[in-house]
Amino acid sequence: MRVGGGTRLFVIFGDPVEHSLSPVMQNAALQAAGIDGLYVPWRVRAPGLSTALNSLRWMENFGGANVTLPHKEQAASLVDELSPEAASVGAVNTIVSRDGRLLGANTDGQGFLRSLQEEGDFVPRGRRAAILGAGGAARAVVWSLVEAGIAELLILNRTSERAESLADLVSRRMGVWALGLGLGDPRTPGQLATCALLVNATPVGLHPSDPSPIEPALLGPQCLVHDLIYRPRETALLREAKRRGCKVLGGLGMLLYQGALAFELWTGRKPPEQAMRTALLQALA
Ligand code: NAP
Repeated sequence: MRVGGGTRLFVIFGDPVEHSLSPVMQNAALQAAGIDGLYVPWRVRAPGLSTALNSLRWMENFGGANVTLPHKEQAASLVDELSPEAASVGAVNTIVSRDGRLLGANTDGQGFLRSLQEEGDFVPRGRRAAILGAGGAARAVVWSLVEAGIAELLILNRTSERAESLADLVSRRMGVWALGLGLGDPRTPGQLATCALLVNATPVGLHPSDPSPIEPALLGPQCLVHDLIYRPRETALLREAKRRGCKVLGGLGMLLYQGALAFELWTGRKPPEQAMRTALLQALA
């Protein structure tokens, strides 16, 4: 990779950001597409996000940005315009410059859905799903499942109020049956038993010693278990679900597809997905 005066700069804002595989994936994409660009991590603490993000307006060679934990929601209030997805989810993971204005988009939901459908072979229409978590990723997942015609949603979260308010939003604004419960609520076993899909949208599992975020005995063998975590590739949740006969899916596909969509938004080019996937697999090996 050669960096020169005409190189376009792409950044990812996060704190921490060292764990992110987006630089590996997006630099491989830029190279494969023959674009003179460089994608770099930019670790920014929350109080500095506004200044850092505003500086993009003055960078004439700005190519595009990603936003990751914990800045996705704050970024939504700092851009000039939001895509319909970002506005519904209330979070931004991709920033595009359009005539000097910053457009905030959210590709997490579409990336999730494509992975679920293509790699998990799962059709959401008319089904019942459970989501663990009520943060940014959970909201993107909920939004995309509703768009894809899910019939019923169970939202389980450590802080029960956040689960309840997300469920309330889904049922009032989107007209889909939804129930929000705190983790450990006595109604959980009965409610989970008939779910066709369980999505872990919490960080529980990121550390190899983390336990499963939910009692695996509560899952029926008909349930597809999808952990959004991609490192480690097999979390305790996936391992134990597999042992119970469930089909399982990790977070690598979502990472790839949300990144491919972001690449397309920035460059207007077809994303070189094979090169992106190979780079991710090499980084994880
Ligand atoms: P977030 O906005 O910080 O939300 C985290 C959620 O997890 C909250 O609902 C939080 O509950 C819950 N939680 C945190 N620690 C917990 C614990 N120890 N026990 C139980 N619940 C806990 O984070 P996010 O952006 O939604 O990300 C969530 C996960 O999705 C992360 O692991 C991230 O890596 C993954 N992700 C993957 C992809 C991908 O491309 N594969 C994309 C986006 C995110 P409270 O409300 O109680 O705080």
